[in-house]
Amino acid sequence: MKQGGCVGIDAGGTLIKLAYIAGEAMVMKRYAADDIHKAVEFVEGKFPGAQLCITGGKSLLMQSLFAREARMLVEFEATCSGVRYLLERAGLPFESFVLTNVGTGTSIHHVTSGGHSRIGGTGVGGGTLLGLSALLTGIADYSEIVSRSRQGSRETIDLKVSHIYEGAEPPISGDLTASNFGRVLRMGQDQGEFGGKERSTSSASTAGGKGKEAGMQANGAPATANVPGHGVDDLLASVVGLVGETVATSSVLAAGQCGASTVVYIGSSFVDNPLLAQIVSDYTRLRGAEPVMLQDGAFSGAIGALQALRELPAV
Ligand code: ADP
Ligand code: MG
Repeated sequence: MKQGGCVGIDAGGTLIKLAYIAGEAMVMKRYAADDIHKAVEFVEGKFPGAQLCITGGKSLLMQSLFAREARMLVEFEATCSGVRYLLERAGLPFESFVLTNVGTGTSIHHVTSGGHSRIGGTGVGGGTLLGLSALLTGIADYSEIVSRSRQGSRETIDLKVSHIYEGAEPPISGDLTASNFGRVLRMGQDQGEFGGKERSTSSASTAGGKGKEAGMQANGAPATANVPGHGVDDLLASVVGLVGETVATSSVLAAGQCGASTVVYIGSSFVDNPLLAQIVSDYTRLRGAEPVMLQDGAFSGAIGALQALRELPAV
C-alpha cells in the first residue's frame, strides 16, 4: 500500500480527530468541529486518492463534504478497536475492563476479550468543563481553562466529608467530596476555619478572565449577590473537580456492576489536562478501582477507523 494511502477520521461533537501512517509512524491530528471544512481540505490536499474511514457523531456530515466515498464505522466499534491497539502497544492486554470515554459527554462501556457493551454514561464531560467554566469565569478557551485550573484551590468551594465531621471520625474517607461547590454557601458558618479571612461580596469582583467573555452576571444575577467571591483559578479547579469526580464515580460504580477492577480512560478532555487526569486517577483509586490513562486515547476512534482500512504498525 502506498504511504498515507488510508486516513481514519473520528468526527466528534467538539473535535475532529485524524490518524494516518507516514513512513513507519502513526500521525495524529485534531481540528475543532467548527473547522470541519479545514479538516476536509487537509485530507483532500494531502491524501487525494486515499481510502477514508469515518466514525463519530458527525460522520455523516463529514462524509457529505468529501467528493469521494468513505467507509463508515459505528463509533464504538472504532473506539474499541483503537483502544485494544493502544493497550497492546502499552503492554496492557486486559481481558475485562470498563472503558470511559470523556469526550463532549461521557460514555461508559464494558469491554471483554469476547466483545463489548454500553453500560451508560453521564452528560458531565468535556463539554461541561468548557461550558460551566465559561459561565462561572467568562473564560471559554480550553488551554486557558486547563492551565489556570492548575493554579487553583478547591478548599473554600468544595465541601469534603471531613468538613462536615469537623474532627470526628467519619464513616467514609474524609477526603471524599461530600458536595461539589457545597462549601460556597457555608462560608459564614465556616468563617472561623478560614481564619476570618476577608472576602468580597460579589463573585464578579474576582471572576472574569482574559478569554472570550460569556456574559457573566449581565442580568445582575440575584442568586449570586451574597455569595463570597472566589478566585477564577479556584472556580476552574472546582469545575475540573466536579467533572473528574463525577466521571470517576460513575466509572467505578460501572466497574462494580460488571465485575471489572480496571477503568481505562480516554477522550480529549484529558489532553494537556494533568489536573483532570490526577483527580480522575486519585478518585478512581479512592473508590476502589484501578485507573489507566491511555496514552493517545483521545485518538482511539480515529485509530480504530484507520485499522478498519489497513494493518497498523506492529506494536
Ligand atoms: P468529541 O468526540 O465529543 O468531540 P473529544 O473526546 O474530542 O470529544 O473531547 C472533547 C473535549 O476535549 C472538549 O469538550 C474539551 O473539554 C476537551 N478539549 C481538548 N482539547 C480541546 C481544544 N483544543 N478545544 C476545545 N476542547 C478541547
Ligand atoms: Mg468522541
